[in-house]
Amino acid sequence: MQNISPEVSEVHWLLDMFQTVDVGLVVLTADYKIQVWNGFMENHSGLTPRQVRDRYLFDLFSEIDEDWLRRKCDPVILLKNRAFTIWEQRPFIFKFRNYRPITGVADYMYQNSTIFPITDVRGVVTHLCMIIYDVTDVATSRLELESMNGQLRQLSKTDFLTELNNRGTWEDALQTEFKRLKRSGHQGTLLMCDIDHFKRINDGYGHAAGDVVIRQVAQAVKKNLRETDVAGRYGGEEFAVLLVDTTADQALYFAERLRKTVEGLSMEFNQQLLKATVSVGIAEYTPDMLEHRQWIEAADKALYTSKADGRNRVTVAAK
Ligand code: GH3
Ligand code: MG
Ligand code: MG
Repeated sequence: MQNISPEVSEVHWLLDMFQTVDVGLVVLTADYKIQVWNGFMENHSGLTPRQVRDRYLFDLFSEIDEDWLRRKCDPVILLKNRAFTIWEQRPFIFKFRNYRPITGVADYMYQNSTIFPITDVRGVVTHLCMIIYDVTDVATSRLELESMNGQLRQLSKTDFLTELNNRGTWEDALQTEFKRLKRSGHQGTLLMCDIDHFKRINDGYGHAAGDVVIRQVAQAVKKNLRETDVAGRYGGEEFAVLLVDTTADQALYFAERLRKTVEGLSMEFNQQLLKATVSVGIAEYTPDMLEHRQWIEAADKALYTSKADGRNRVTVAAK
């Protein structure tokens, strides 16, 4: 039997490792011609080492932003530095499909990479080595976490029953608008709306029926809103709407439309039809208001007048 020298076996092992290691290894000439392409790269690209050899990287992989990658690699060649790319910056260098069953949410493999210089015996950089790491698992769990956090943030701002802003969020928005109005001298109008004799609905049909009515009235509020208006659930069956760049006269149209919409609703609950009406108070911002609470009080007072005058009506606060 022929004796294999230790050096030859070592090279053989190294080649084996090079082929099977679970990172991409690419060696490029200083003018970006592919020289070396390991098993990882072959498996994910579908291109064999022979097919890519001596090919210009940017011709073969048009998805790579040439200017960007050159900017990363220039210091590697000129200064013998290492360079890194991370998925947060660019999701990938090579656009490889993601086939992992667990992280099936990602279409493409997220990649980090390290690029380092290869020098000849005189210390001159002749080649670049690129290591490609598959970081799809890390990236997708991070992205999922961020999306969950976003949803949680949204939930914490929203009223569960009506999906309107909750009181805290709405009042924050009002405060911001109040400050803006103080500076700009623009117009803004506040509208408070309370369901009439709501206790009777709760008492007569039950709390669940009351919830249906609250939700339907909230829908009516939403339906009548413009993009810039901010509506919130202010209390149990009380809603508040901030109408941006709107005078009291203009707000009166909105309020009347809302009042009529609610009056016209027939809400079904357990095969019974429920009816409801709302009373509304409107107050336009005036520069003598010192803080936003005064604005709310003015609208509240107008609402109280609507109640006292017989309900199912709109009252505009005197300026
Ligand atoms: P008014 O015309 O004067 O407004 O009479 P009202 O019966 O509506 O009086 P009030 O505003 O005092 O009553 C509000 C009731 O709303 C009291 C409370 O039990 C009920 N409520 C508050 N939040 C909810 C809720 O989330 N669901 C239901 N079903 N009822 C609620
Ligand atoms: Mg009420
Ligand atoms: Mg009330």
